[in-house]
Amino acid sequence: MTVSAILAMTALVGGLCVFCAIICVALQRPAAIVWMGAALAIGVVESLALKDGTITRVDLWLTAATVPMSYVCVGESVRAAYGRKRSTMLYFVVCTATILSSLALLQSATPPVLQFLPAQLVGAAAMARAVLTVSRTGRRSDLIDMSLLGALVLVTAIYILRIPVFPVLVGMEVPFAAIDRQGLQDLLVIVFAVLVPAVVFLTVARVVATSLQLYRMRAELDFLTNLPNRRAFEAIADRPKRGSGALVVCDIDKFKHINDRYGHAAGDAVIRAVASLLYAEGVPARIGGEEFAIWLPLTDVEDARLHAERLRRELMTLRLVELADDQQITASFGVAACTRRMSLGEAMRAADQALYLAKNSGRNRVCVHVETTEERRHIPYRERVAA
Ligand code: GH3
Ligand code: MG
Ligand code: MG
Repeated sequence: MTVSAILAMTALVGGLCVFCAIICVALQRPAAIVWMGAALAIGVVESLALKDGTITRVDLWLTAATVPMSYVCVGESVRAAYGRKRSTMLYFVVCTATILSSLALLQSATPPVLQFLPAQLVGAAAMARAVLTVSRTGRRSDLIDMSLLGALVLVTAIYILRIPVFPVLVGMEVPFAAIDRQGLQDLLVIVFAVLVPAVVFLTVARVVATSLQLYRMRAELDFLTNLPNRRAFEAIADRPKRGSGALVVCDIDKFKHINDRYGHAAGDAVIRAVASLLYAEGVPARIGGEEFAIWLPLTDVEDARLHAERLRRELMTLRLVELADDQQITASFGVAACTRRMSLGEAMRAADQALYLAKNSGRNRVCVHVETTEERRHIPYRERVAA
């Protein structure tokens, strides 16, 4: 029963190791999965050393060294899954030296519990670091984080409770109790058969979930300006419970000329510079080549117009090394109210109409979309004020 139970555990750990290898290739070798794969590969060696009744001196060394090593790897895997840097070289040197001291003690007449103790403490420290990492970095509301924390706490607790009786597993005796080796092995095999896959799958799930989050963020961010792209902007500004506010659209004037005169790279620098000005207020986005939008929640049209006017003036003072000293950058702006009942599409259309008017009225100006009277519908603000 014991031998077959340990062999079954070896097969389970080996299978999980193959699973990690596949995930590792699929996700382009994330450090967390590489460390977990290493922990499982070491775990296979450890299980094989314990697989039969007779334990040789080599098996003893292997067990003393591989048990803490596999836990150190699990610790590094969990830390990497939560974005921590790899531990320092000093940490690995201290771990190795401590494990070696256990191997040296195995040659002496020291009581078995003390012989294994230094190596066992290395594994306990590694697991304690993993628990601390998840409890500090994991989110309380996240099922993966909290399940992983629970599984790691259980593994660490069992690991620490096992330290005083560990020599029994390799056929030695402990002075304080008569413990049945086979019974202890069977119990640990059953407990770890549940906990090891849980830790592996939850760590892989954390890595996959983080990668998906990252890909989603990248897909929603414009690579040139780091502003949200049109799709992300619509998702932010078109929520059903959005509330009212104002929408500003902005289009750089005669941008094609800048590209033609200074080159595409200089054009990119202009787009980046304009984007950096937009960060100040509201939710800015790059919605097209040289077009931007700003969603200003809880802002009325007049405040939105003042904001656009401020941006227009700031833009005129912008100077870039890529352009001639006297090259001015200007943009036209369209402003529209966006009430609670309006869809973002409707507000966009209104702001676009105002922008169109700003372009047709000579560019470098702010126009407000006027809803009330049909005659005043798209009169540029300056002209409305002058009238
Ligand atoms: P208007 O004042 O009427 O807006 O004129 P415009 O020249 O700014 O507008 P037009 O639509 O004719 O030209 C926009 C140009 O922007 C054309 C396109 O090649 C350029 N463009 C679009 N995306 C990018 C980009 O990411 N980088 C650069 N450098 N140019 C871009
Ligand atoms: Mg345009
Ligand atoms: Mg333009």
